[in-house]
Amino acid sequence: MTISEQLYTRAQEHIPGGVNSPVRAFTGVGGTPVFIKSADGAYFTSADNKQYLDYVGSWGPMILGHNNPAVLEAVIDAAKRGLSYGAPTEIEAEMAEKICELIPSIDMVRMVNSGTEATMSAIRLARGYTGKDKLIKFEGCYHGHADCLLVKAGSGALTLGEPTSPGVPADFAKHTLTAEFNNLDSVEELLKANKDDVACIIVEPIAGNMNCIPPAEGFLEGLRSLCDQYGAVLIFDEVMTGFRMGVDGAQGYYKVQPDLTTLGKVIGGGMPVGAFGGKKEIMDHLAPVGPVYQAGTLSGNPVAMAAGLTALNELSKPGFYEPLFAYTEALVIGMREIADQKGIPFTTNHVGSMFGFFFNDAETVTNFKQVTNGDMDRFKKFYHAMLDQGVYLSPSAFEAGFVSAAHGDKELKLTLEAFEQALTK
Ligand code: PMP
Repeated sequence: MTISEQLYTRAQEHIPGGVNSPVRAFTGVGGTPVFIKSADGAYFTSADNKQYLDYVGSWGPMILGHNNPAVLEAVIDAAKRGLSYGAPTEIEAEMAEKICELIPSIDMVRMVNSGTEATMSAIRLARGYTGKDKLIKFEGCYHGHADCLLVKAGSGALTLGEPTSPGVPADFAKHTLTAEFNNLDSVEELLKANKDDVACIIVEPIAGNMNCIPPAEGFLEGLRSLCDQYGAVLIFDEVMTGFRMGVDGAQGYYKVQPDLTTLGKVIGGGMPVGAFGGKKEIMDHLAPVGPVYQAGTLSGNPVAMAAGLTALNELSKPGFYEPLFAYTEALVIGMREIADQKGIPFTTNHVGSMFGFFFNDAETVTNFKQVTNGDMDRFKKFYHAMLDQGVYLSPSAFEAGFVSAAHGDKELKLTLEAFEQALTK
């Protein structure tokens, strides 16, 4: 038995499924999850002392690579001054100023502790601000596990939402409407049928929870104008894309401004941090200024702020993103060439430092239905062949991959060699 296997057995005794977040259990690929002991740069070391090249990066946050010296120093320094006060600090103001400076659509921001809290709070604010109850989300997008977001479309596009998890009352789910990503007509249909009732549209501007699906040309612009037309708040969930496509997020990349933005992952430099922010007119509805309640004992935690602010300072240095983007591009082109040579159907998507791939022969993959059409058996075999060679990809065909600043030529070569071997197998 490997040490990971032993730890997995032990963990399952007292942690449901042995993990504190389901996808970590390797349910998407089978086998035993790799238990991690330590990480540095682009690599981590497993409990069995095997080194892995990491393309998960804690599901996105580790854009600077693991153990970035500046972040580490800031965290240690902050920790020496106390771990939590539950009272305001200067660094919270500094963090808010930095976010508002980097993301022009954000006038004001509130810090929270996770992406889930960020989206849940942004939706409550949008509802409180508009006085309406319904929200529109997209099939295949994930926004955390708040009740109103664990909902799928009913049997027809215009039927009420149905819970995707026991424990979510149907009465809560009925306020959630589900449209098709990259299909503006499906959104307009819902808006027309629920004319005065839609408080907000929430969207991942680049979908990263159904693999990696960029927005089709005009899709985000179309959402912007539909929101203006129907008096709905446009929320970009940039928990994954924030500070990953550039300092101003996917909204800067595609030049479309939402009313509210949710942030997480990169913004904490690896610590548990989330945030939501946007137009002052809307944010002023939040307590204690306005009536919409939202709070958090550990929100704006000084150690987490030190990590996050240092990470944002590092990645806003000139030239930070170019090598990441070049790496990501070289990676997907390299993989496609190898798959072509072997005659294996293979498609890739990438934006900035996020990428995805599919074992299918589609020209382009633009929505959830196409993602679910990929060859899942081939993906599982491929996944384990890569893992055996020390390349750790997201253990699910529905997740994006992430490149960090610590990935360089050596890592690219290692990955492409492993890829070729895996396809040969
Ligand atoms: N929104 C998006 C786009 C996400 O990718 C995630 C997490 N994968 C969340 C929200 C939820 O964030 P958290 O897991 O920190 O609650």
